[in-house]
Amino acid sequence: MTDADRLARHLPDLIAIRQDIHAHPELGMEEVRTSALVAAKLREWGLETTEGIGGPGVVATLRGRRPGQGAIGLRADMDALALTEQTGAAYAASNGRMHACGHDGHTAMLLGAARMLAEAPDFAGTVHFIFQPAEEGRGGALAMLKDGLFERFPCDAVYGLHNMPGVPLGQFALRPGPMMAGAGRWLVTFRGTGGHGGNSPHLATDVAVAQAVFVQALQGIVSRNVPALDSVVVSVGYMAGGSRDSLNVMPSELVVGGTMRAFTPDMQALLERRIAEVAQHSAAMQGTTAEVTMWWNTAPLHNHARETEVMAEAARALPGAAVDLGMRPVTGGEDFAYMLQQKPGAFIFMGNGEGHALHTPLYDFNDAALPLGVQFWLNLVKQELGAA
Ligand SMILES: [Zn+2]
Ligand SMILES: [Zn+2]
Repeated sequence: MTDADRLARHLPDLIAIRQDIHAHPELGMEEVRTSALVAAKLREWGLETTEGIGGPGVVATLRGRRPGQGAIGLRADMDALALTEQTGAAYAASNGRMHACGHDGHTAMLLGAARMLAEAPDFAGTVHFIFQPAEEGRGGALAMLKDGLFERFPCDAVYGLHNMPGVPLGQFALRPGPMMAGAGRWLVTFRGTGGHGGNSPHLATDVAVAQAVFVQALQGIVSRNVPALDSVVVSVGYMAGGSRDSLNVMPSELVVGGTMRAFTPDMQALLERRIAEVAQHSAAMQGTTAEVTMWWNTAPLHNHARETEVMAEAARALPGAAVDLGMRPVTGGEDFAYMLQQKPGAFIFMGNGEGHALHTPLYDFNDAALPLGVQFWLNLVKQELGAA
């Protein structure tokens, strides 16, 4: 039986698994059911399976039939988002959580590859299947790394992928070097005296003016502090202060927060420094204070040159596939970047066909992409660890 025949035979199962995971979405670090399902399937198919790595993370290890020292890690993410699903699918979630980023599909594709390879381990060396929790800003990659992921499961290289709706099936995109931004968040709390907005505003220090000056001046970071050929993003996403019931009261506290993105450690440092400076100076101008906190959820994602080529080749070997090796970097973040800081490796986008955008209530992973993703992983293992 050929790989294609076996894959076709497993496909109904794989679709059922994908839709089962979809119907029971769990937020990052809460993937109890999902990781139990993943581990149970892996064990059922005969893989050596370790649970509880970085919380609900799971790693399955498969040694090839032939001796070999090489070891690679293939990674999928398992978490969902806090969103109310509106797809109307028979397997739609109803718990206010949603697989709106397609991690159900990523998990299913890697499971499919694990099953196929366990049935016919015609390779030399070791494959570690890494099922990561909490990609969506909840620190899953770092948690697995802190739990000794690569000490316990040594890998020469590590690979990850993400679906991309709106891009035809069979189209892949990646690039060597910086491909996705480091994504961070910042929060500024302005504090003043507050005051009577009608009777005695001159006696108050005004946090509203401080935050207005701050948000205005923030725009100058991108236009004046960042070199013209570098790219960063600073956006405000949250403002809170005062009360609608007391419009004549000047608040004593006002909070502004947002996101920041950068592709290099230098630009990350520049953002941290300038956002804090602009906040402090804006506050000082009004006699108020500013308390600034910021943190990074992901590092900039940098693909390594050799492994980028390996992934491109694995994609090219799919029938009818097209690979864009010159993808424009995106300012979205991906915490697989932390694994790429420790091991050579690469990350690739694969087309998910027509469909709604990621992180929207109508998005759904396209099951027609499942066999492509499985075959892609099989190609990659064959390339890296030798054909039979
Ligand atoms: Zn996402
Ligand atoms: Zn995602």
